[in-house]
Formats: sequence, C-alpha cells, structure tokens
Amino acid sequence: MYLKNLPHKTVERLSQYRRALLLTLSKEKTHVFSHEIALMLHITPVQVRRDLMLIGYSGNLRKGYDIKELIELIGRIVDTEKGQRVAVIGLGNLGKAFISYFKGKRNKLTIIAAFDVNPEKINRGFDGVTVYHINSLVEVVKKHNISIGIITVPADQAPDIAEALVEAGVKGILNYSPKPLNVPPYVYLEEYDMITSLEKVAFFAKKNDERFK
Ligand code: NAD
Repeated sequence: MYLKNLPHKTVERLSQYRRALLLTLSKEKTHVFSHEIALMLHITPVQVRRDLMLIGYSGNLRKGYDIKELIELIGRIVDTEKGQRVAVIGLGNLGKAFISYFKGKRNKLTIIAAFDVNPEKINRGFDGVTVYHINSLVEVVKKHNISIGIITVPADQAPDIAEALVEAGVKGILNYSPKPLNVPPYVYLEEYDMITSLEKVAFFAKKNDERFK
C-alpha cells in the first residue's frame, strides 16, 4: 500500500504511533482513543486524528481505534510487503550499538550486512550480521538486494561511502556522521545528529529554568 504525498512528519509519527500501540497491546487492551495515543507521545489528539485521517482510518466513536487493526494498517503503509534489507557501514561503537539495539525490533527491516576496513572485524559475524570489507560494498549490496544503508563511519569517509551506496543502487540512506551529504533526488536521505537533539533539550531546559524561577 503506497500513499502518495504523505508528509514526512506524518510518516515519522506513524512509526511512533505503532511503537506506542505495540506497547499498549501487550497490556491486553484492544482499543485506544486518540487522546490516549496523544498523551503517550506528548502531542495533541487533533494531531493524532489528522494523521490517521490522512491514512484513511477512522475509529469507533464509542470504543476508539482497534489497536491490532491500526498496527496492521500502519505496517501496510510504512513497510513494504517483502521487507527491506539494510546494511551498516562502519562497525564501531555506533554501528555495533545500532545492530544490537535493532535486532528483532521490526520484522520487515533486516540488517543483513555490515562493512568495515578493520581486518580484525571482517569475515566474522557480529550479532548475526556478516561483516564484509568495504571494498566489496557495491557487489554485496547488489547481490543481496540491500535497499538501505546506515552510515556510521568517521565524517571524512562518509561522502565516499554515500557515493558507493548510491552506485550500488540503495534507495535510502541514514547518515549518522556529522558530515552533511549530497545524494541524487531518487535516494531518500535522513541525517541524524545526537548533539542537535541534546542542544534542543538544553535550549528548552534553559527556557524552562527561566520561566519557572
Ligand atoms: P568508531 O571509531 O567507533 O567507529 C567507526 C568505524 O568505522 C570503525 O570500525 C572503523 O574501522 C570504520 N571505518 C573507518 N573508515 C571506514 C571506511 N572507509 N569504510 C568502512 N568502515 C570504516 O566511531 P563511532 O563512535 O561509532 O562513530 C561513528 C560515526 O558516527 C562518526 O562519524 C561519529 O561522529 C558519528 N556519531 C554520530 C552520532 C549521532 O548522533 N549522529 C553519535 C555518535 C557518533
């Protein structure tokens, strides 16, 4: 199922809704109201209802949203039917943390390969993932139909890695290095920076400190 023109922020929130719904489901609850989802994610019920309307889902006024149904619908929108294969490039602190954290979390996204230059890391598995030399990136990505690359190499290496991933035919890149990257418009690029998140928290912490003095 593919919905054209779904705003990027809505896609991000759909993923957050699913995570919150999965937690709720395990408590043997079958239905949930928009205000309950909103409360868990610190957003407004109007925002939740607006997002769910965009994906064509309306709840039952009396009972709320059917949790299982909604999880499945979000899955049909966010995931692909066959699933997608992911590679991590740079098996250092962050690359390893990502692989270990992500393991078993989403059945439609599988990290199947990691790449590095360090001979001590190559040709042995890490948490069930095969580690290859970076020189075989294009070949392995093509052979295993990997469509997403996660970049966790030092900043100066990131542009070359992105170029190789594009050449290999990936459709999406998640860049953790602090180096902003350029990729062609047919490749979706997401850049994440922990420091930006911390600075944002620090800014609002400072603001709150002044407001509630
Ligand atoms: P690290 O030094 O522990 O790991 C880097 C790994 O990349 C090493 O295993 C190294 O051998 C490998 N490597 C180096 N050049 C390579 C190449 N050309 N091809 C393949 N592998 C190569 O570093 P780290 O702490 O894991 O950080 C990795 C990257 O993530 C850095 O760019 C760092 O600045 C960034 N980082 C980002 C965030 C964030 O929030 N975005 C947080 C922490 C670190």
